[in-house]
Amino acid sequence: IPFSSGAPMTAPGGSTEQDPLVRRLTVLSGPSGVGKSTVVAEIRLAHPQVWLSVSVTTRSPRPGEINGVQYHFVDDAGFDRLVAEGELLEWAEFAGNRYGTPRRPVQERLERGEPVLLEIDLQGARQVRETMPGAQLVFLAPPSWEELVRRLTGRGTEPPAVIERRLAAARVELAAEKEFDVTLVNHDVKGVCRELLALMAVRP
Ligand code: 5GP
Repeated sequence: IPFSSGAPMTAPGGSTEQDPLVRRLTVLSGPSGVGKSTVVAEIRLAHPQVWLSVSVTTRSPRPGEINGVQYHFVDDAGFDRLVAEGELLEWAEFAGNRYGTPRRPVQERLERGEPVLLEIDLQGARQVRETMPGAQLVFLAPPSWEELVRRLTGRGTEPPAVIERRLAAARVELAAEKEFDVTLVNHDVKGVCRELLALMAVRP
């Protein structure tokens, strides 16, 4: 079972080949505001056959967000419980809220050989890299820093202090590109989706 230990997995026969089961797992990460959730929303719309992990978060829903679709929204006590019971594959605190990936749904799909896509922050991506070394880590990069600032400022749903925190986090996160297997530059959403699905070996 790919989740049972932190040790790197080896294929039968002792080879260091990546386990094909885990290879089905693709992680999309990158700085806040780069457009990860837009890419994911486009995949949800145009490629409903691709299963997306729905994260748990302590953040409040934004207008239009539906519990169980973009996130499972929980309170702090609920999140604590999931962590204590080992129900999260990874979790991280980001800009004052906690986010985590429910373990079971991911595990079930991987065991059935189905592709799984996680859209998570950099800290979460690092945890997945440690616990599931066969996972494919994809970094979504902005076309430029100016474009990233424009997108983070332009969302209009967050107070200035929150935007400042997200910009600070983004500056650190941009430097992490080299830790990833692949970089996709977010010039246009549909293009990124095509490239991502190709990396996941999903037919469009
Ligand atoms: P937002 O609040 O804008 O929806 O998400 C903030 C950040 O949390 C984004 O970078 C997003 O990728 C990340 N995130 C969403 N779900 C998860 C998760 O389950 N685990 C981790 N580690 N990060 C997540």
